[in-house]
Amino acid sequence: MEFEWLNSRIADETMELVLLFNEEGSILYGNQTAAVRLEYDREKLTRCSMSQIFRQDFPNSPDGFISFVKKCMKGVNEMTMYRSNNSCFSVNVRIFPQDGMDAYLLLAEDISAQKNMNMRIRELKEKESENYRARNEFTANVTHELRTPVNGIKGHVMELVEEVTDPGQKKTLDIVLSCCDNMLTIINDILDFAKLESGKFVIDEKPFDFQEMMDKVIATHSAAINKKELHMSVDIDEKIPQRLIGDELRLTQILNNLLSNAIKFTMVGYVNVVVGMTRRVYDEVELFFMVRDSGIGISQKEQDRLFQSFSQVDASITRRFGGTGLGLAITKQLVELMHGDIHVESEKGKGSTFSFSVKLKSEQVLDDKQSQVYVNWSEYMKEESDQGADRLMQFGEAENRDELKKRMDKLVLSIEMGAWDKAELLASTLKALIESSGDEDLKRQELRMEMAIRKSNYDKSMDMYGRLKDAITERIGDLWNSE
Ligand code: ADP
Repeated sequence: MEFEWLNSRIADETMELVLLFNEEGSILYGNQTAAVRLEYDREKLTRCSMSQIFRQDFPNSPDGFISFVKKCMKGVNEMTMYRSNNSCFSVNVRIFPQDGMDAYLLLAEDISAQKNMNMRIRELKEKESENYRARNEFTANVTHELRTPVNGIKGHVMELVEEVTDPGQKKTLDIVLSCCDNMLTIINDILDFAKLESGKFVIDEKPFDFQEMMDKVIATHSAAINKKELHMSVDIDEKIPQRLIGDELRLTQILNNLLSNAIKFTMVGYVNVVVGMTRRVYDEVELFFMVRDSGIGISQKEQDRLFQSFSQVDASITRRFGGTGLGLAITKQLVELMHGDIHVESEKGKGSTFSFSVKLKSEQVLDDKQSQVYVNWSEYMKEESDQGADRLMQFGEAENRDELKKRMDKLVLSIEMGAWDKAELLASTLKALIESSGDEDLKRQELRMEMAIRKSNYDKSMDMYGRLKDAITERIGDLWNSE
């Protein structure tokens, strides 16, 4: 056979391994690269068979061999080539039939370096994630161990506080106690963060009393609120089922973090908490929480990196207020583990609103008709007001007195919280009712209050609310003292 074209310098100098073989699998030609890479002299290579060089891939039987060759002609195949010394390397193989000859041309590209490189990268990645896991585990273990002695110190100091009478010593011990508490907060944050990062965090699903949980959360912060003389208000949707199933401890932790930040960064004004139910389908309940403050606020640029770990908006904050910058990163991860989202709206110098949603279960399972989806927060507020409007249509009727009082109480809370949208909706609910009474004086009072609310004027709104309340009392008796 004539293989002149194959014997050309091009075939010999190509980086690819070139083999020509017949239907019996005997090698008829091998280029210089093939001879060097396979460690044969060229004479000897032409006496080899394909199943010797590709002993893992090419079948030995003549039938199997040719059908395998035909299969390989369809594209690039990864195979293993064996050297004369029985060592091997990986190649990408293409096979072409040779017209007019009972022979096939095989081109093989050595990919062993690339494969080794990929393997090395994979090994390094595995090692890195192993190191990362080990580091997180170490952090979790150390912080866990640190908690025990700090708790021990705290316990002994608390006993001493009971015993000492000297005010100076008492003050020192109080400082030690507060240092212990700060240290425990930091240790717990680091522990939680390490657990969350290593994916070892599990969310509990246990029944709990929602209102009781909220009361405890608020009570935890009341001393700090009073100390700073801030105004605190809490508005909880009455529709939220009392018994819920979820992770009470972690929900408390989220609220505690947002509330302690709100208090920490507010010098004058208010801190509000609003909780609504935005969805209730069968046994699934979606709650929406807002923690609002009139504090120092956060600029748009700073808001972008707020939920990243170790991020405090500027270094002077750390010096002035302390903290690790882990709180919001943990909060975000906890919210996400409860299938929710967290957002912030804030303006520098004017205050911040942190809002988040979580999905919990209710002990009571609803049917299709009872299930409600409010879609979003503003719709939720509208729905709440509209329902109120229906119930309040007949002003002064005995069965509506309670409802009227509730609406008025919610209205004043909304004004106090600066929840102007909600206050406006509640005021329009009352308008429909008051118009039905036909009393001109009441109508005027209501309108004035609505105008003040629309202008977000706190003092005026409160004044007008007081006047409306007096006017209602004058007409249908004192709702507020009758219970
Ligand atoms: P830290 O534990 O240090 O408070 P966080 O992750 O809870 O960490 O908060 C990160 C930073 O976000 C705070 O240091 C503060 O600069 C800013 N921040 C958080 N909440 C508020 C808020 N309500 N008002 C103003 N700044 C806030």
